[in-house]
Amino acid sequence: MRAAVLRQFRSDLSLETVPDPVCEADGVVLKVLACGICRSDWHGWVGEHPKLRPGAIPGHEYCGEVVEAGPLARWQVGDRVIAPFILACGACPDCQSGNQTTCKSQRVPGFGEPGAYAEFISVPHAHNLARLPESLSPALAAGLGCRVTTAWHALTGRAALQAGEWLAVHGTGGVGLSLLLIGRALGARVVVVDIVAERLSHALSLGAEAAVDARDGDVAARIVEITGGGAHVSVEALGIAATANASLECLRPLGRHVQVGLPTGHTARMEINMNAVYMKQLSVFGTRGMPAWRYPSLLTMIETGRVDVRPIVAREVPLSAASAELRAFDAPMPPGVAVITDLTG
Ligand SMILES: [Zn+2]
Ligand SMILES: [Zn+2]
Repeated sequence: MRAAVLRQFRSDLSLETVPDPVCEADGVVLKVLACGICRSDWHGWVGEHPKLRPGAIPGHEYCGEVVEAGPLARWQVGDRVIAPFILACGACPDCQSGNQTTCKSQRVPGFGEPGAYAEFISVPHAHNLARLPESLSPALAAGLGCRVTTAWHALTGRAALQAGEWLAVHGTGGVGLSLLLIGRALGARVVVVDIVAERLSHALSLGAEAAVDARDGDVAARIVEITGGGAHVSVEALGIAATANASLECLRPLGRHVQVGLPTGHTARMEINMNAVYMKQLSVFGTRGMPAWRYPSLLTMIETGRVDVRPIVAREVPLSAASAELRAFDAPMPPGVAVITDLTG
């Protein structure tokens, strides 16, 4: 099959013919219909992710059609499915208690095993897959990727965002846009922060009540003013110290910070204003992905039109354009994400 292989950090992915994937007993092999391109892939492409090394095939945001099913998998050839990026084992205490995102035996295609920048992908633990709704195109389904699922779980499964609360979103990339759209659907008032004017106006057009340009400085103070005392929930969606601190500092007393951005840098350490956490008695949540059992709740919101995910996907590209898309993450980006929909092109 054809695949895009990382041979050298920060160099173009190599388009190669590689062996077809092998189906596992509890898994399926999918013909990839679409695969999202994500800032997490960029982390790997620049060499910051320990599980993305030369020889790897990236791609963790995919949907596809079953072309082979293992004897223990409950899918049929021809089924169209969508995958969470975390494929939990299903058998350990974490999984059994519904917390699949902390499964210690989890597998993540694209990080440590072949991903979906390819014609086909082997997906183990196929019980994590969800049926692709008829009304959702493969491009949009892949665009849900890790971002809409992560945003859904961050707001509803972690921070318990309530209608009428103020939600601050720091960074309006793919996950930031998802947080805005879901926050609005849940009845929250949303203020967004970014450094790209085009992304701020895009967010305003999608229902953000206020947009703060971080280049003007003093982000936290301005959000405290806009929200009349601080946001109730604030989500960091970039992974750098400046936005993490702005997120903590823009909260009102007893506010909830959610760390969604994958911390950048080789050590992923950063200096945090712990005094804000202490003085305002804040809650700090980390979150990563969404347990697969929560797909029905999210897909219902999308299928019934309560959340319109169409603004998230900005462009559909061929596999050969993936390198240029990864390179583009080096600089501030226009709104929306790219999805690979032609895996042979
Ligand atoms: Zn498990
Ligand atoms: Zn992703």
